[in-house]
Order: sequence, then C-alpha cells, then structure tokens
Amino acid sequence: HLPIIYAITPTYARAVQKAELTRLSHTMMLVPNLHWVIVEDAESPSTLVSNLLKNSGITYTHLTAATPQEWKLPGKQGEQWKKPRGVLQRNTALQWLRNNLNADQDQGIIYFADDDNSYSLELFEEMRDTQVVSVWPVGLVGGIMVEKPLLNPKTGRVTGWNSVWSPNRPFPVDMAGFAINLGHFLRHPEAKFSFEAPRGHQESVILGHLTTRAQLEPKADNCTKVYVWHTRTEIPNLKYEEKLIKRGERTDE
Ligand code: UDP
Ligand code: MN
Repeated sequence: HLPIIYAITPTYARAVQKAELTRLSHTMMLVPNLHWVIVEDAESPSTLVSNLLKNSGITYTHLTAATPQEWKLPGKQGEQWKKPRGVLQRNTALQWLRNNLNADQDQGIIYFADDDNSYSLELFEEMRDTQVVSVWPVGLVGGIMVEKPLLNPKTGRVTGWNSVWSPNRPFPVDMAGFAINLGHFLRHPEAKFSFEAPRGHQESVILGHLTTRAQLEPKADNCTKVYVWHTRTEIPNLKYEEKLIKRGERTDE
C-alpha cells in the first residue's frame, strides 16, 4: 500500500486566505493517501479553516501556533518579517508527527506545502517513494523561471543547483522543492527549522540535519519537469471595503 504523504501547510488570516485554501484543498482532495497537517498562525482554530477542512473529506490534523508579535516588523504586508514566515507553524507540525507516529510502524513522506503555491498532481506521486530526501525543480522562485538541481549525467546524482539567488547556501532550494522520508525524519530527533537562521537558510537548516547533497534522490524525470510553482497571490485592492462596511453591506463570511 501507498505511504501516506503528510503535507504540512502553515496558513494565516488575510483577505485571500479562503481563496488560497479552497484552491489548495481541491488539489489535496485529488491526492490518494494524503494527510493534511494544517497549522494556523493564530491563537485558536478559526471557523473558516475548521469548516473548510471538515467539508473537504480530506484526512487532516488542524493545529495552531501563533507567531509572537515581536517577530513581526511594522510595514507592508508581505515584507514585515524579521523572522522567517511559517517556521513556528512548520515546527509545530513536525512535533505533532514525532508525538503521534512511529518510525517502525508508519510509512510516510513529509512535504511542506505553502498555501499559495501551485501544485501538479504528478508531484505527489514523484515524492511518494522517497527513501531519505528527494528533490525536484520549482518554478517561479529565486528570481528565475525554474530553480532546479543539477545532475551528474554519468551518475545521475545531484551535484548542485542552478540557483542564482544566494547560491552558496548548503542547499539552495525552496521549501517546495524537496520531501523527506517520515521514518528517516523520526530517527533524527534534532531535525527541525531554526529561528536563528539567515534569510533563505531554513531549507538548509533542516536538510543539513537529514542528508548530504550526494545522497539526494532526484525526481521529476531527472529534474527536467516542473510540477510545483512558487506562485504568490497579489494583495487585492479593497479600498472601497470600508465604505461598504459603513453602509452595512459587508458581504464576506
Ligand atoms: N504564513 C504564516 N504566517 C504569516 C505569513 C505566512 O503562517 O504571518 C504562511 C503562509 O500562509 C504560507 C507560508 O507561511 O503557507 C509561507 O508564507 P508566504 O507564502 O507568504 O512566503 P513566501 O511565498 O514569500 O516565501
Ligand atoms: Mn508563498
């Protein structure tokens, strides 16, 4: 039988949240043997997320972990971070896996699925037989069309990445570009994200605990196919919403 994919999604309240999660849930519904671990950046579970999960029919775990206010900087939405986004939420999900699953019994794969990316169904089948850590290309990230692992054509092993932004990171790969074998993760209790890491180094922090470059398993036709895109949703123009609210005509739910 198929190993279970534990897809970990941090999410936070904003105007587009319901749209993002609706789209993502419709992808998740089409993936067999998937367990969605969704972690709200909030003190307590919202009715929006609770209802969406309940109505989806997906197997899920609904957690919360609020980012402390002092980790956020004042400023424009989307640029207000002095600590990396989603770190506390992803670590909360990882701790849930450690508390609830067993390396000897549970066959699974861990994948970090942000709520705004775009996922092809092929991606989930590619990652499903990950033995330690698998990697593949990610579209629309790092200032280029496709950021991808480079392979030695003779051995087929990963030799590096084509990354241009911060290429000297130990693993210059986006969060969407790798998956981890669950048993391997559970056997490495030190593996988690760090709040101290410099920008863009979260992936390197966790992967450094778990694997080496040479050990990586390339997927997606030797890293020639793109099955996930680091799309980002534009902040909507809501300049008349206040007027509607004053008129008593606000229609969101
Ligand atoms: N996120 C969160 N709290 C925040 C900001 C972001 O939980 O205050 C989540 C967000 O929903 C997403 C992930 O963290 O699933 C990464 O955030 P984002 O997509 O904004 O990061 P970027 O695309 O810029 O890497
Ligand atoms: Mn994003």
